[in-house]
Amino acid sequence: MDADYGKMFAAIENEVCAAGKTQVRLLARICPQDYNGISGAFVPLKRPWSRIDVYRDFPNNDNRSVYEVITLAHECGHREAWLQEDEDEAVRSGAAHDSAAWLAMAITERTAMLRAEERAWRAARPLLERHSFADWSEFERRKRDDISTYRSRLGVENLAPP
Ligand SMILES: [Zn+2]
Repeated sequence: MDADYGKMFAAIENEVCAAGKTQVRLLARICPQDYNGISGAFVPLKRPWSRIDVYRDFPNNDNRSVYEVITLAHECGHREAWLQEDEDEAVRSGAAHDSAAWLAMAITERTAMLRAEERAWRAARPLLERHSFADWSEFERRKRDDISTYRSRLGVENLAPP
């Protein structure tokens, strides 16, 4: 039986909204390049307030897909790190997705950004497990693609895994 990703999305959304002062927005993407082509964002506001944006690829489709559920869980992972008062995390998560600016940063900063990304993926897994998520091959594919995109945009392709 197909998983009901609409229900799963709502359950995860309810959990993060109830647990902290977080707003979740689901935004339509009219053109593929809208929102800089990224799938979602964690936006730290004045602590403890924050916002999670998930960009919807198919504005006319009412069924929230596995893609959106994985995006939401990943952004929740960034939120978790921020709630643990990792200030650097807040700065990195709020940084614009601007490859040129990223490449101009010191290697220690770029390494920290990659580590924050890996950490958000690690935090996403137990959250999804709690919500009976089962499509782990899709999860691993997204994670692999995302981390390899970050590696190349940050110019740290050859950095060893943590
Ligand atoms: Zn991320």
